[in-house]
Amino acid sequence: MEKDVYITPFNPIVVNTGAKLAVIDTGTGEAAYRDSRGANGQFLTNLAAAGIDAKMVDTVIVSHYHVDHISGLLKADNSLAFPNAEILVPAMEHKYWMDDGEMSRASTPRIEGVFKNVRRVMRPEVLKRLRTYEWGREVIPGVPAAGTPGHTPGHTCHIVTSGASKVYVQGDLTHSPFLFVRNPGWHPFVDHDPVQGEATRRKVYDMLVAEKMLVQGFHYPFPALAHVERSAAGYREVPVAWNPTI
Ligand SMILES: [Zn+2]
Repeated sequence: MEKDVYITPFNPIVVNTGAKLAVIDTGTGEAAYRDSRGANGQFLTNLAAAGIDAKMVDTVIVSHYHVDHISGLLKADNSLAFPNAEILVPAMEHKYWMDDGEMSRASTPRIEGVFKNVRRVMRPEVLKRLRTYEWGREVIPGVPAAGTPGHTPGHTCHIVTSGASKVYVQGDLTHSPFLFVRNPGWHPFVDHDPVQGEATRRKVYDMLVAEKMLVQGFHYPFPALAHVERSAAGYREVPVAWNPTI
């Protein structure tokens, strides 16, 4: 990376199980696309370019309630970006961020901002389509949810399984891999509970190494897929090259 320039990729994904067309996380949204003049919030544009009609998406799965993961539920005019989708959210995450008592105890302006954005996004039309899910169960068939708290209280990862293949969709278990996979003891300021976040991160990454499991990272560079190996300081991500064929 260039000195003094930090680039954060955002990688919401689509999972087509045959029975379900599911989106996992939604990015920063169409309003951000407009305000950044296309620098971010490109998910709807990229979906269209990939030939996927947002109206055909029947499920949106949310990993956690940070701005870059839920704001894309809404279009720039605040209508639903995925008008025919059920919105599946981690029960613990929903409970925490919707709790006014927790909001009143927000310890920093940044966290208070997250609470406010949750209230902005969770409009009645969204809440009408929203259902909470529990850790340790399948969110949709073939996609179990794993509780991975720390980054946020209800942060959740999803294991997309197909036959013998698995991809661990890690959300923000680590932020940028070249910083936080290689140095798992470093705590990004966006981690809600840094100590818990590090413990969770190490447990999951040990598993990914042992099982040789592919990981998909929301803040990994596109195509956001990697294998993970152990290194002296922690772990090292070995990116999977982009391939336009499945
Ligand atoms: Zn994020």
